[in-house]
Amino acid sequence: MLTTIATYTFPYEAQIAKAKLDSEGIPAFIADELTINMQWLYSNAMGGVRLQVLDDYAQQAIAVLSVDSSDVLEREQGGDDSPCSACGSTDVEPYQIGKRWAFLVFIGLDFPLFPVKNTVRCRQCGHVEKI
Ligand SMILES: [Zn+2]
Repeated sequence: MLTTIATYTFPYEAQIAKAKLDSEGIPAFIADELTINMQWLYSNAMGGVRLQVLDDYAQQAIAVLSVDSSDVLEREQGGDDSPCSACGSTDVEPYQIGKRWAFLVFIGLDFPLFPVKNTVRCRQCGHVEKI
């Protein structure tokens, strides 16, 4: 039996979640994807894209998504000049989280949004600033 563990407005969101579950060894399935891709503007009215897993994986899958989804899905812009909060150094560089997911997700998908999160990484201690 398949259980729906999440519903997304846009297909790319479901693809991101599916890629994360795949990377954890959890087989996941996207329902209604073809319909939504053809008419994604209407996905709200249609109830969105459903992400489904086998019953046995449901709790594990929900845990995986609840841990990581904010990092991957949030799209934020931050300044680059604030000092490292770990060591105080201002020798920091822009750093992006999410490109790997974007790469996985957009193979074969014609969709313009990239869920890349901009952060800052300290060159002195390697600390990654969550902006
Ligand atoms: Zn530092």
